Amino acid sequence: MKKETDILIIGAGPVGLFTVFEAGLLGLECILIDNLDKIGGQCSELYPEKPIYDIPGVPNQTAQEHVDALLEQIKPFNYEVFLNERVESLEELKGEEIPSWKVTTSEKNEFIAKSVFIAAGAGSFEPRRPPNIDNPDIYLDKGVSYAVRSKSKFKDKDLVIFGGGDSALDWTVELSDIAKSIKLVHRRDEFRGAPNTEAQMRELVKQGKVELMTPFVIEDLIGEDHIEGAKIKNFESKEIEEINCDEVLFLFGLNKKLGPLADWGIDMVNKKISVDTEKFETSNSGIFAVGDINDYPGKLDLILCGFHETTLAVQEAFRRKYPGERVPFGYTTSNTKLQKKLGVAD
Ligand SMILES: Cc1cc2nc3c(=O)[nH]c(=O)nc-3n(C[C@H](O)[C@H](O)[C@H](O)COP(=O)(O)OP(=O)(O)OC[C@H]3O[C@@H](n4cnc5c(N)ncnc54)[C@H](O)[C@@H]3O)c2cc1C
Repeated sequence: MKKETDILIIGAGPVGLFTVFEAGLLGLECILIDNLDKIGGQCSELYPEKPIYDIPGVPNQTAQEHVDALLEQIKPFNYEVFLNERVESLEELKGEEIPSWKVTTSEKNEFIAKSVFIAAGAGSFEPRRPPNIDNPDIYLDKGVSYAVRSKSKFKDKDLVIFGGGDSALDWTVELSDIAKSIKLVHRRDEFRGAPNTEAQMRELVKQGKVELMTPFVIEDLIGEDHIEGAKIKNFESKEIEEINCDEVLFLFGLNKKLGPLADWGIDMVNKKISVDTEKFETSNSGIFAVGDINDYPGKLDLILCGFHETTLAVQEAFRRKYPGERVPFGYTTSNTKLQKKLGVAD
C-alpha cells in the first residue's frame, strides 16, 4: 500500500494526537502510525487509570480520559491511523524543490509526506520480563500482566505484585481496595518509588490490607491453564516458598528500545533527537521531533511541553507545503474560518 499525506506522524501518543489538531487548524492532513495495538502512547499503555494533574485548564483527568479527550478534539479533522505497524525507514525523495520523505513500515506499507513528525516518545518500549523465568508470556491474559489496563481485572483476586519502583508502589496502594488480597514482593526492604507512596503502602501493611514480602525474588510460576501460584526465593537464605494467587503483576519497569529510529541518520544526543527550539526540526530538513523523543536545552518530558513543540513545528510543515505563503494565525475563540474547520460555525 502507498499513501500520500501532508504530515506523517510516527507515534500516536498525546503529542502525536495533538499534532493532528494543530495541523487540522492549518488545513493540513495527517497520518498517524504506531507500533502498539492502541492509540495513546505511554498514557494508555502504562498508566491509563492514573490521574494527571498538570494539563493546563484540566485540574484532574485520568491518562485514558486525556487520550479520549484528545481524540474527541481531533474528530473534525481528516486523519488516518495505522496501528501495529512500526516505522522502519525514512528516505528522502530528492528532485522536488522541497523534497518529500518516503516512510516504510514493518508491514511494508509506504507513505509519502512533505513533513515527518517523530513523536516516538520513549521509542518502542516493552515491559521488562522476570529475568529467571523461561517464558512467562505463556500466561499472558491467564494470570500474568505487565501493566494495569483495567483495575476491574483484579477485583476480588488474590494478587501478587513484584517490583520496587513507583509503579509497584502505586498499584499496591490503588488496588488494595479492590483485590481480595495483595502481596507485594521485592528483593529488599527498600523502594525506589516516591516516599509518600511508600509510606501509604507501609500504612496498608500495618492495617493488614497488604502483605509485604522481602527479601524475595520470583523463582517460578505455578499453574496449568491459568496462574495458581508462584514460587519465590528468599534472596538471603535461598529458601523457596510457594504462594497461592490468581493474578501476578510484574512491574519491573520498561526496556526502552529506541528501535529503528537510531539508524535514520538523524543527529541524536543521549538517545534523544536533537532539535532547534524555533521549529523543532531535526538535523534533516522536513523531519521534526516533538514530545519526549526530542532534546534541547531545558527540555522537560511533560505532555504540555510536547504540545507547545508540535504547535510550532506544524507552522513549518505549512511553509513546506505552501512555500512563500504566510502561515495563517487566528484565535479559535473569534476566527470564523477556524471555527468552520472545527465544525462549530456555518
Ligand atoms: C507513570 C507515568 C506518569 C506520568 N505522569 C505525567 C503527568 O502527570 N504529566 C505529564 O505531563 N506527563 C506525565 N508523564 C509523561 C507523559 O506520559 C509523556 O510526556 C507523554 O506520554 C509523551 O508523549 P509522546 O506523544 O511524546 O510519546 P509517547 O506517549 O511515549 O508515545 C509515543 C508512541 O510512539 C510509538 N513509537 C515509537 N517508535 C515507533 C516506531 N518506530 N514506529 C511506530 N510507532 C513508534 C510508541 O509505541 C508510542 O505509542 C508520565 C509518564 C509515566 C510513565
